[in-house]
Amino acid sequence: MVPRVIFGRGSFNQLSEIISPNRLNTKAPFIYLVDDVFKSNTWLTSRISLSYDDKILYISTKEEPKTSQVDQLVEDIILTCKERPSGIIGIGGGSILDLAKAVSILLTNEGSAENYQGWDLVKNPAIYHVGIPTISGTGAEVSRTAILTGPKLKLGINSDYTPFDQVLLDPELTKDVEKNQWFYTGMDCYIHCIESLNGTFLNEFSKTYGEKAFDLCKEIFLADNLSVAESQDKLMMASWHGGMSIAYSQVGVAHALSYGLSYYLGVKHGIGNCLVFDHLEEYYPEGVALFKTMKAKHDIELPQGICANLTDAEFDIMIKVALSLEPLWENALGKKWKTIITPEKVKSLYQKI
Ligand code: NAD
Ligand code: ZN
Repeated sequence: MVPRVIFGRGSFNQLSEIISPNRLNTKAPFIYLVDDVFKSNTWLTSRISLSYDDKILYISTKEEPKTSQVDQLVEDIILTCKERPSGIIGIGGGSILDLAKAVSILLTNEGSAENYQGWDLVKNPAIYHVGIPTISGTGAEVSRTAILTGPKLKLGINSDYTPFDQVLLDPELTKDVEKNQWFYTGMDCYIHCIESLNGTFLNEFSKTYGEKAFDLCKEIFLADNLSVAESQDKLMMASWHGGMSIAYSQVGVAHALSYGLSYYLGVKHGIGNCLVFDHLEEYYPEGVALFKTMKAKHDIELPQGICANLTDAEFDIMIKVALSLEPLWENALGKKWKTIITPEKVKSLYQKI
């Protein structure tokens, strides 16, 4: 679990005070990985106080993080810093938070990021790393994984060294998120709850967090009486609880299929989950019905025909990625999942998207 967390509107102003005790020496900088959506947004960046050799690296999130991108960042940091950094601070959505976690691990573990995709492959503790979400929903701020697309798979670096040492939750930072993106990333949280609460891996630990996050999602996406600030505050906490819920259980059918879409077509996680979940009545009837109500309430029109012109060979690539995520299927459908879900079945689901 994340050992230290601070929550509050405006708490971003305390960042420097929070991290400064962790500065190793004047030659060991803090490196800020910041979503480049904030490059021209001085509202946020002017509040980052840089000392000594500290620096901000602006990162595009047009594409989701890749193992090669982590390797490149680590190499650049090693080449340009006098000493190993004092810490990595990720400021952005799930993409930047996962990059920050992975970079902090690869600064103390040899080789390429792709060697660590999987479960418990990391040998050495990461350097101090701090996560500051600027959009709510993925739960990446609290989870034990850093999801990366590698040459072979989209798979997380899951390890005890992955979680942040410190998280700063300032809901005000989410104020400029565009509406569709707010819905897609918010629905990632909602889908985490549905998949966790309806999974066979469910236990009281996951259930407690999942139910709270589910109730918050219903308030945020269905109630009419929330102020903007209340909605931002609640979604940030829903994301946290949703992440905690899957940390001790697993996601399910929507995530397995969404990973296939993302791996081959580059469809981003939030919208990919929505595209898939819209067609999963068979597995999550009540959850999908409520999703459709939320979608209608917020006038969200999902793109159609994403998979319309794919060849059989292309479908096969996506099916292979989706079916390789065995724990997700086992959580969703039980130990005998292979008798229920076949490549043909997965293809028929992709063909609806
Ligand atoms: P994202 O980080 O890609 O951000 C989505 C978009 O929102 C980007 O265009 C970004 O520039 C913009 N944005 C972010 N903050 C903003 C702000 N305050 N104002 C305006 N625009 C802003 O998307 P995401 O949905 O947060 O994350 C998706 C990624 O998270 C995927 O790579 C996925 O694999 C990963 N993920 C990780 C976990 C985990 O547990 N580690 C869980 C779920 C998803
Ligand atoms: Zn997710």
